Order: sequence, then C-alpha cells, then structure tokens
Amino acid sequence: MSSSRTWQDRRTAALKSKKKNGSKKSGGAATSLRENVDLQFDRAAAQLRIHPGLLRQIKVCNNAYSVQFPIKRGKDYVLIQGFRAEHSHHLKPVKGGIRYSEAVSLEEVMALAALMTYKCAIVDVPFGGSKGGVCINPRDFSQRELERITRRYAAELIKKDFLGPHVNVPAPDMGTGAREMAWIVDTYDAFHPGVPDTQAAVTGKPYQQGGIRGRVEATGRGVQFGIREAFSHDEDVQAAGVKPGLGGKTVVIQGFGNVGYHAAKFLQTEDDVRIIAVAEWDGAILDPKGIDVDKLARHQKRTGSILGFPGSKTLERSTDALFLDCDLLVPAALENQIHMGNVRRVRAKIIAEAANGPVTAAADEYLRQRGVLIIPDIYLNAGGVTVSYFEWSKNLTHMHYGRMSRHLENLEAETFIHQVEALTGKKLDPRARKTLLRSHDELALVNSGLEDTMRSSYRDIRKLLKRRKNVEDLRMASYALAIERIAQAYLDLGIFP
Ligand code: NAD
Repeated sequence: MSSSRTWQDRRTAALKSKKKNGSKKSGGAATSLRENVDLQFDRAAAQLRIHPGLLRQIKVCNNAYSVQFPIKRGKDYVLIQGFRAEHSHHLKPVKGGIRYSEAVSLEEVMALAALMTYKCAIVDVPFGGSKGGVCINPRDFSQRELERITRRYAAELIKKDFLGPHVNVPAPDMGTGAREMAWIVDTYDAFHPGVPDTQAAVTGKPYQQGGIRGRVEATGRGVQFGIREAFSHDEDVQAAGVKPGLGGKTVVIQGFGNVGYHAAKFLQTEDDVRIIAVAEWDGAILDPKGIDVDKLARHQKRTGSILGFPGSKTLERSTDALFLDCDLLVPAALENQIHMGNVRRVRAKIIAEAANGPVTAAADEYLRQRGVLIIPDIYLNAGGVTVSYFEWSKNLTHMHYGRMSRHLENLEAETFIHQVEALTGKKLDPRARKTLLRSHDELALVNSGLEDTMRSSYRDIRKLLKRRKNVEDLRMASYALAIERIAQAYLDLGIFP
C-alpha cells in the first residue's frame, strides 16, 4: 500500500517530537503520559486505606481496541489507525473524547481514558472513563475523506460494542468537533434503525442533532469557573505569591483551539484578566498591554495563523510563551509541555491545566516545592464531560432543559415582583429585577449546573486537602477523592460472578 508522502513524513516528525518531549528524564524517571498518570495515582493511593488489589483494579485499563482500515485516495490507499480504550466500568456507560492527531497511540489513549475515569468521579458524573483516537493530522485530509474516516472508525467501534448510549459515549477532543460527532451519531443511527435513544450515543453534537446549548464552549467555561473558584479562596492564591482577585491578572495561553480560545475569551470579557501572550503550534505572540481575544480569533480565521497579529511581537519559539513572567499560565494544547528539561524556566505563579497532562509528574513535584499552585487537569477541564452528561441525559429524556418550567418560573417571578412593589410602594432595584426575571433557558441552566459542579468539586478537593495531612496539593487531593469514590462504587457492586 502506498500513501501520501506528506502525511507519512509529518507523522514521523510528530512522533519524533513527541518522543523528545515525552521522554525527558529526571533522575531516570521516564515520563510518558501513561507513566505520569500512574505515578500520580500511586502518590495519592499510598495515602489511602484501600486494599492493594482493589487499587490495582482501579488503576488498570479494562479494555482496549486497536483497528486499522484503509481509505482510497485517487488510485492510492491510505492506511488509518484508530483506537478506543475503556478504562473503568465501575459506572456505565463509559465516556470520553475522540482525538485526531498524528501523535495518538494506544498507550496515550489508555492514559487519557484513565484521566476520564478520575475526572468523572471528581465532578460526580455517573460514567466510567474512555478515550479514542485516530492517528491522523486532520489538516492532511479533505472534508470528504475525514467523513469517510470518521464513519468507518465509528462502524468499527459499533462492530466491537465500543459505541452506544448505554455502553460507550464519545465526545469531541483535539482535532474533532460537532461535525465529527454528527457523522458518528448518524452512522450509529444507520446501524440501529428504530432504536429510540440513538442520539445519546455521542455528545458534543450540533444543536439540531440533539446537542445542547453551551457544549461547544463547556470545557473553556469550566476552566474559567475553576480558576474563579480557586481565586475565591484568597489563602490558596496567596500561598502561590499572587494577590487576591482575578481582575488585572496577567495570563498566558498555550493552544488557541476550542478550550484555549473559550477559556481566554471568558476570562478576558467576564473576569478582566490581561491575556499577555498566546502560543500556537507555529509560534507565539506577546503583547504586555493585552491581546484582544476575539480580534485575535478573527485574525487567525482570516490568515490561518495567530502570527502577525497587529500590535503583538512574535516570540522566537512557540514554547517561549511557557517561560514568560505571568500570574497564570493556561496550557490548553498538548500533554508533557512542562517537563524536567524546561521546568526551571517556568515563571508563572499559578498553572491552570486546561489540557490533559501538560505537566509531567517530575515537573509537577518540582513546581510544588517551589510553591507554584497547580489547578490540575482532572478537575479543571472536566467542564466538557459535565455538560456532556447534561446532553446525554437530555437525549435520553427527549426533552430540552427549561421547556416545562421556564414560563411558570417567569410568571412566578413577575407575581413576586408585583407583590413586593405593591406592598412596599417602591420599585425593585433594576439589577434584582433583572436577576429574578432572567430567562431560565437551556444555556442558563447548563451554565448554572456547570458552575455549581466546578465550585462544589473544588470545595470537595480542598476539604480533602485540608483534612488529610499527608495529602500535599490539589492534584493529589483530586486523585485521592476520585480513588475513594471509585473504590466505594466497586465495594458497593461486589464482584461478578
Ligand atoms: P483543539 O484541537 O480545538 O485545540 C488545540 C489547539 O492547540 C489547536 O489550535 C492547535 O493548533 C494547538 N496546538 C497544537 N500543538 C501545539 C503546540 N505545540 N503549541 C501550541 N499550540 C499547539 O483541541 P481542544 O479540544 O481545545 O483540546 C485542547 C486540550 O484540552 C487537549 O489536551 C484536550 O485533551 C483537552 N480537553 C479538551 C476537551 C474538549 O471538550 N474539547 C475536554 C477536556 C480536555
């Protein structure tokens, strides 16, 4: 079989660069994402009174599937490799994104599936963890080819029972979005004619295909809510040398895709932070006065790159952005970006992990000892799966949120305002009136549910951190919380047969 030269060359280059980034050693500790996740699991597990056999079962990936299939390109064949891992079945269905990237491997997908398990437990959504990936650079394929790849990958998952509303429910991740999810749900539907719940086989779908308001931006929204919550505890940010209050803080964003863009946009427009630098795969830009996120997004759309944005300076290397002096660094691109080879150059006081696994375990330890506050991925980027849970529930009930109650709530609010004004003879404060009369539509309900989830999960993590003297940081506390919840689920279920 032959295939496009560019595609093969780029894949080799991506794998080489991944190996270079992912295998930095510190005192002999190799740091692939999977090793990092396992190390962090072990660190937390060592503090818990849970049977070692049960801990092994929680840590191990239950199930993994690897598939190869060809697509035709002119007279040639391009061989495609796909994966799906199911990490834990303590709750069903299992849930997790599908990633399109040349660096995808079975090992990476297994590690990401484990993160999904812990993430779901932390934000208390009733799923086990899963993850999928197709080893392609989407930029190398036409839309028609991407549709064929996506549909064939979905068909392969269906054949092996790795896809379905009560079995395994994918969502978007790096390199995929609502478009791919629509192709997958349509493929699933074609294989299951007459089945009523097919829409719930995938989340992150376009709204008209059973998607939910707020899902596209949910992970970035969750990142904003998580950062806000951390800043609402003065003690937490002051310990990292940061003055209380999010307004005016300097922020660097790595990865201006779905998560990075939305997190940056909400933090800038609603919390008044100053985005001083943005990094992308082809370079990074800096403007200490602040970068207007929406203008940058328009520039990126028009030119195909963030580089050359008016008023900004281009940094020599994209990774230079990681080493800028700032209050808050938000890595929102890839794993293993901060490792023992570069961690000494990091000057951020707080790192908010929007991406999965951006800091290796060894670098994490180094930063902790330096007093840097890390808001960990398994908590911070759980907004996506939280809103996916809302979407999945909506698909199973076949009813959108707010439909039954919105009108009634408005009537009640109007009656209440009328009564208060009649009794007091005074007009209600316009802000209070607006709050009472605000529309309880789907987006408002989704954002409210997401904010509540991010706030209460941070508080659960923080409580555990304060209560257990050997638990040293938010990451360890997050893992401990997840492990305890999963262990309890296993203990409640017992073992079959
Ligand atoms: P995306 O593909 O929309 O965006 C990723 C961005 O990072 C792209 O713009 C890409 O060009 C850029 N990028 C790639 N290599 C880079 C490099 N070396 N330096 C700087 N930028 C680079 O993906 P996304 O959905 O925003 O996901 C980003 C991260 O967030 C991933 O780690 C993903 O697993 C995680 N995540 C995503 C979701 C979600 O709902 N999309 C949920 C949870 C976690």
